[in-house]
Amino acid sequence: MIAVVIGPPGSGKGTQASRVATRLGIPHVATGDILRAEIAKESALGRELEPIIASGALVPDDLILRIIEARLSEPDAASGALLDGFPRTVAQAKALDAMLEHRGSSVDVVVLLQVPEDELWRRMRRRAAEEGRPDDTDDAFRHRLVVYQAETAPVLDYYRSRGTRIAAIDGVGSVDDVTERISVALTRRQRSQRAS
Ligand code: AMP
Repeated sequence: MIAVVIGPPGSGKGTQASRVATRLGIPHVATGDILRAEIAKESALGRELEPIIASGALVPDDLILRIIEARLSEPDAASGALLDGFPRTVAQAKALDAMLEHRGSSVDVVVLLQVPEDELWRRMRRRAAEEGRPDDTDDAFRHRLVVYQAETAPVLDYYRSRGTRIAAIDGVGSVDDVTERISVALTRRQRSQRAS
């Protein structure tokens, strides 16, 4: 099963995608984590990425697509993947569809994690104190929210127009409760897929 988790910055998609992927037995593929690992390695690419990510802007589509193509070609992704933070633009969504079509597969379900904006700010400030991510500053976060509305929200319209199932999940509540809500939606989907 190929599932995509979409949600605004601070919606908890990283935490939730990791927990849900473990439950489903498919790899959690988070482009943000892959990019941050590249920065931590202090590679030439990492040094190029660092200021882009710290500002809250998106990194170029072609780079992300190369990362995803390589990751989905690894053996553990043969039975599917839970994609977190990708696709983030309509161009990425179209490229993903083309990539999956080649492999005889497609996006099965999109999980939309919904959290009101005041709660997103509260969570970002808590995470900033705990983790110190360079893009968890007021300016970068404001920019990430704008980018989400302008670039990522249209991805949902794209999937809607393609008839892909979208599971809208209330992302407010305890971490366990939200994991449960997503798992129920995806397990149902995984079962009906296996039955067909
Ligand atoms: P995340 O951990 O998903 O919040 O991503 C952190 C940052 O990594 C984003 O603000 C972007 O700068 C970059 N990034 C992650 N995924 C993508 C993507 N699919 N396309 C472009 N940039 C991305």
